[in-house]
Amino acid sequence: MSNKSIVRVNIIKKTRHLLALSKNGKPIPPALFECYYTELDSLLFDWYCELLWERSIRENSIKNSELKKISILATTLNNIYKQAKPEEKKTLQELIKTYNHVVLEQEIIQQKRGLIRHKKRYSKFEEYLKSKYFFNQKNNTKNLNINNSNQVKYSILSIIKSNEWDIDDAWLSCNIQKMPGTLPSLTCLVGYKKPPNVLWHCNGSKGDILILCHEFGHVMHYNLAMENQNFYQFEPSLLVKEIIAFFWEALSLVYLMQCVESYKAKAFLSSYKKQSNWYIENAENIKQENQVVYGSYYPLARVTGEHLALALLDNRISQKQIIDYMKMGAKLKATTLIQAAGIKDNNDEPITPY
Ligand SMILES: [Zn+2]
Repeated sequence: MSNKSIVRVNIIKKTRHLLALSKNGKPIPPALFECYYTELDSLLFDWYCELLWERSIRENSIKNSELKKISILATTLNNIYKQAKPEEKKTLQELIKTYNHVVLEQEIIQQKRGLIRHKKRYSKFEEYLKSKYFFNQKNNTKNLNINNSNQVKYSILSIIKSNEWDIDDAWLSCNIQKMPGTLPSLTCLVGYKKPPNVLWHCNGSKGDILILCHEFGHVMHYNLAMENQNFYQFEPSLLVKEIIAFFWEALSLVYLMQCVESYKAKAFLSSYKKQSNWYIENAENIKQENQVVYGSYYPLARVTGEHLALALLDNRISQKQIIDYMKMGAKLKATTLIQAAGIKDNNDEPITPY
């Protein structure tokens, strides 16, 4: 028997043992969860992440390797399933699901209902920026060389740090793959405890920098959550992830506007507004098609991120609180962030007007 098969058999044995323990419907102690499931789940999760990453960079040419990976995953699962009793299968499904825990359907449904009413909130952030920053430059212009992604990374890091954030450089550890074109950029996990990959689509505009700031929000969030949560609890919901990323994008816009010349600040804001409008249009189109997909909840996430940034700038929320949120992993709920941002759930007006 090969080493790989032995590992697999051990996993099956452990799985059966754990299922026997959970037979009476009693909750499984977290320590046992860790002991018996980390290896299996992180293996499946790593495959899944790799698959997502390959799909995102290779688009339609993925089919063969995708099928191969799915078949490996399916074989492992099937082996375990075959030996499980019917009543155990239900528990097993709960325990070995790979990515489902990430999607909080409730939150997405809630967002679909409230999509359009978030449209007008965008202007509050923009008005705030204009009033505060357009004519109040610090004249410590940073040079952002867009041709070198790592240089951009360290420039942004230094801008954030110069605003008194106590940030460890390691939180921004990632692999940046720069690609030409206007396709959406993305941050993708390649496995648990591995730095994420960033696919950065750029066309040489000011908006590229803001999009990279958004992706760095994801990178910091992933790295912090992974450092501080165990495997089952590390990954935030999609909506929470986007709120945090939009928070960093909005805050970075403020920081950038503070440290560039006025005409550049205006160019950043104009790129930002264009992008905001695109998210709304895209979400409205999706809604008309009666779908709920990733883009459906970008407007809510963006507006919440903006208001969270404003709450920070107004000292209604501390930097430490933001970092603590990012460490919470799957335990952080979107509703907590919406509340912290000062947005009422069933009303068009934020709690604190600007
Ligand atoms: Zn994002």
